[in-house]
Amino acid sequence: MTAEPLLRMRLRVEQDIFVVRQLGREVARAVGLESQDQTRMATALSEVARVMVAGGRDTDVTFAIEENGVTSLRVSMGYPEPGRAGRLGQQVQHVGRLVDTMEVDDDGTGTIVRMSRRLPFGAPRLTPDRMDEIRAELAQHVPGTPLDELAVQNQQLIAALDEVRAQRDDLARLNAELEETNRGVMALYNQLSEELEETNRGVVALYAELDEKSAQLRAASEAKSRFLANVSHELRAPVTAIIGLGRLLTDSGSDELTSEQDRQVGLIRTSASDLLTLVNDLLDLAKAEAGRIEPNWTEVDLKAMFGQLRGTLRPLATRPEVEFAVEEPGLPTFRSDEVLLAQILRNLLTNAIKFTESGSVRLSVRTVGGDAEFVVADTGIGIPPELQERVFEEFYQVPGSKPVSGKGTGLGLPYARRLAGILGGALRVDSAPGAGSTFTLCLPITS
Ligand code: ADP
Repeated sequence: MTAEPLLRMRLRVEQDIFVVRQLGREVARAVGLESQDQTRMATALSEVARVMVAGGRDTDVTFAIEENGVTSLRVSMGYPEPGRAGRLGQQVQHVGRLVDTMEVDDDGTGTIVRMSRRLPFGAPRLTPDRMDEIRAELAQHVPGTPLDELAVQNQQLIAALDEVRAQRDDLARLNAELEETNRGVMALYNQLSEELEETNRGVVALYAELDEKSAQLRAASEAKSRFLANVSHELRAPVTAIIGLGRLLTDSGSDELTSEQDRQVGLIRTSASDLLTLVNDLLDLAKAEAGRIEPNWTEVDLKAMFGQLRGTLRPLATRPEVEFAVEEPGLPTFRSDEVLLAQILRNLLTNAIKFTESGSVRLSVRTVGGDAEFVVADTGIGIPPELQERVFEEFYQVPGSKPVSGKGTGLGLPYARRLAGILGGALRVDSAPGAGSTFTLCLPITS
């Protein structure tokens, strides 16, 4: 901390109070304090001077510039009579509000009041030359009369009052603006709330409509399943009768038919048995869709089931160019519904045999994670990628895919996928036209 003195003076009589006030203002202005701070400093000095001079003692006043990280104007006022700090401190206490720091001290040789006010950041730098200049200016200072000082004080008072009024007007304007903004914000908030409410009402209505639509869809789907089940059930008896009657007609015990009649009855019998297959498939699918199939969970002996499939399907795989292989299951037993599982695998294997001209048709099972994967792989005609999901739709058959043997209804895969779902699993296909298809039935292993 350094303190560079600017000016010293001595106060003796009341007249000097005006002088120190004027000088205080001059010094404050010269070192760069703003107008209001000049007035504050001058007022603080005259107040302290008034109290000290009233005590009837000569008072030494020193103005200095202090560097302490920041630059401040510091004024010390003291007289060589110790032991007065307490009372003096009380008398000048109110002055502290006009300056940044003020202390009243008793250093053993005298009583001293120190005050300081920080210079603003933008104030011109106080170089040694500038300090000399200020000292010279102050030396030239001619003290005015008390009347002059009174006039200056009045002007300052008027200016301060003006400023207060301007600040009050500013405050009123700011308040009005704030109120306006608040009103705007409230209006915006209300508008947003209304919009939100409107949107919510829309969403609620949409959901209600969706609920209604899905209820309608459910009802339509149930009606379809019911219709299919009823119709196919009703059809089964007459179709079976037609087949039986056809058989009777061609029986050796019946009257001899002409060869043409024999051919026509044969046609009737094949058509009727195709119709019966379709009716049976429809009935199965309708049952599965209506949720009327309840799995019968048992511990399935896969080895036995695979053996049975091998035995029943080998007669269908008549082409010598096709190797029909049912691999030994790596998984000996598996908890599932034996009939439904066998039905799915039979469907897949029948399809594979139907659509494979040469190469192989292979059934295997493996465990992947917590699942059993039953894989039916063939090297047949394959299914184009864009149709691989469509083959699971009812009655869908890949256009131009003529089975190598047998016929189809287009209901086998949708039924197999339904059953897979009922067993808690899924059925998917990977296929490439010309290379073959792999159907994978994935079922969770439950203990
Ligand atoms: P379909 O009674 O006609 O076999 P599916 O529902 O079982 O009825 O199969 C639907 C269609 O999917 C078949 O008509 C066929 O076009 C195709 N498809 C099914 N399995 C195979 C396969 N292994 N290889 C090639 N195409 C297949």
